[in-house]
Amino acid sequence: APGGAELRARAQIDLAAVRANVRTLRERAPGAAFMAVVKADGYGHGAAPCARAAVAAGATWLGTATPQEALALRAPGAGVPDGVRIMCWLWTPGGPWREAIEADLDVSLSGGWALDEVVRAARLAGRPARVQLKADTGLGRGGCQPGDDWAELVARALRAEAEGLLRITGLWSHFACADEPGHPSIAAQLTRFREMVAYAESRGVDPEVRHIANSPATLTLPESHFDLVRPGIAMYGVSPSPVIGTPADLGLRPAMTLSASMALVKHVPGGHGVSYGHHYVTPGATTLGLVPLGYADGVPRHASSTGPVLVEGKWRTVAGRVAMDQFVVDLGGDEPEPGAEAVLFGPGDRGEPTAEDWAQAAGTIAYEIVTRIGTRVPRVYV
Ligand code: PLP
Repeated sequence: APGGAELRARAQIDLAAVRANVRTLRERAPGAAFMAVVKADGYGHGAAPCARAAVAAGATWLGTATPQEALALRAPGAGVPDGVRIMCWLWTPGGPWREAIEADLDVSLSGGWALDEVVRAARLAGRPARVQLKADTGLGRGGCQPGDDWAELVARALRAEAEGLLRITGLWSHFACADEPGHPSIAAQLTRFREMVAYAESRGVDPEVRHIANSPATLTLPESHFDLVRPGIAMYGVSPSPVIGTPADLGLRPAMTLSASMALVKHVPGGHGVSYGHHYVTPGATTLGLVPLGYADGVPRHASSTGPVLVEGKWRTVAGRVAMDQFVVDLGGDEPEPGAEAVLFGPGDRGEPTAEDWAQAAGTIAYEIVTRIGTRVPRVYV
């Protein structure tokens, strides 16, 4: 650790769990290629180490949101083998198209300005871009609208392909409600996707891959797997939703354990206000423990008075407000040594809370709990 061996807090990342989760997910989608989604620094777990783990377990594609994230995975230091395809989908005007072409990225296009920019960059680079056309089949976010917009995007992309400026490698889309099995939008999006793919193919598009399945669709909807599945959260062992199941129900193992060394343990009398705003007042004489993690580290302030922590085998609750760098737990008279471990969340098999428990405590989803753990918390790989 920079500045000494002592680690105030750490996010331990179990790469064997990532590998096992990728294998489990691949068994759920036999016959489909696997794109490991490692955007947002691998959902907070570290993009490059998780990318390498996923590739070791059979992923042949990596997916990111931004081109910068994708380019970082092509840097030699990332250790991603040549030949692994990398796709990114969140572009803004003036983006690094030429670098993306030269780095053999697959880039997503939803139409308009992006096609102009990629074609211009391909002329400068003197080689074709790999593009994947994104259909809005009902998410109502990115992607090209069906109908005339899709027809125009397909026609323009085919003209550029005929000129040798790009190769249309994929047709793809994204679900709105795959985490709510049975939601009527799921079937509607699948139908729309099949129609938009069929239209493009009828005009002469010959894609390598057609894909729409995120983690919940990979887990619950085989007819959505097409040529490739694109899970993110599940490869880190976190369930997309309690409705789909716990990680254990799904055969997944949470990869991240967030813990800290208790910075202080002290005796206080009853009636003692705790932390900003005094939203917690000790009900009687007790001991308080100071946990050196705060909202700047990603501990949600919305988990004030609700977030669970395991200390010496017992669940404790955040006492009062989570501050920027620290929060307090009421230890009920127990006296752990300073330096004793406080576990916020992990796989749960030592009795510790899970990311899902924190999501519930903070009124959010487990995706947000793991992705927001800040850069001040070192990732320790095991
Ligand atoms: N595909 C796209 C386009 C995404 O934006 C995401 C993440 O939100 C994923 C796949 C992976 O989704 P999940 O983490 O639910 O598997």
